[in-house]
Amino acid sequence: MTTELLYATDAYLRTFEAPVLEVDRAEARIALRRTAFYPGGGGQPHDVGTLRWDAGEATVSRVMREGGMVWHHLDLDPEALPDPGAEVEGRLDWDRRHLLMRTHTALHVLCGVIWADFGVAVTGGNMQPGSGRLDFELDAMSAELGARAERRINEEIACGREILVDFLDRSTADQDPALVRTKASLIPASVNPLRVIDIVGLDRQADGGTHVASTAEVGRVAVTKTESKGKANKRIRLEIQDGESSSA
Ligand SMILES: [Zn+2]
Repeated sequence: MTTELLYATDAYLRTFEAPVLEVDRAEARIALRRTAFYPGGGGQPHDVGTLRWDAGEATVSRVMREGGMVWHHLDLDPEALPDPGAEVEGRLDWDRRHLLMRTHTALHVLCGVIWADFGVAVTGGNMQPGSGRLDFELDAMSAELGARAERRINEEIACGREILVDFLDRSTADQDPALVRTKASLIPASVNPLRVIDIVGLDRQADGGTHVASTAEVGRVAVTKTESKGKANKRIRLEIQDGESSSA
């Protein structure tokens, strides 16, 4: 049994209904037939929110994907968990998720402008709602480079570039220059089709996360720190300026 990943095709879905697939009382968690809750991955934290059913309601405190199933950990006495087959209604903490979508998209824009200006790849990254960081194969880092990146990011945001979600057949994806560059070929061949996030004209990569539909929706971004974490590993931190930020 597998969980249909509603967020993969509609990142703006905040509520949904689904039957319970499996119940794990030992871990106080349930797997659903479909879900809008992002289970975490690619540096984007899992969602939180609530599930409601005929006999109860509980906070979703943690979400994880195991095999093909997405498990929702509930703050609830395990005896009170709904039974397999019960219909539940899910509701995301949308303010947090939408801020994560803006943050995640801002990191793609950073990735795109550094590639356009320096032709170097990302080596790592992470994010929290409202803030995040990426590491690059740059030889040197400076406050000037950070200021330039901030200006370029905000220019691209102001362009209102459209962001598309594609599902590409592997034989096509493995020939795509942008995907070759971002080492999409390292993703197991069994992942087919490959989900691709395209900030049209700026950044294109294989990605399982959630993003906004236009760069304009990101809002203003500040580069808050530049650091050298060693040879060919230079870190840039950013913040969404009107977001509730927490340090990454
Ligand atoms: Zn992404």
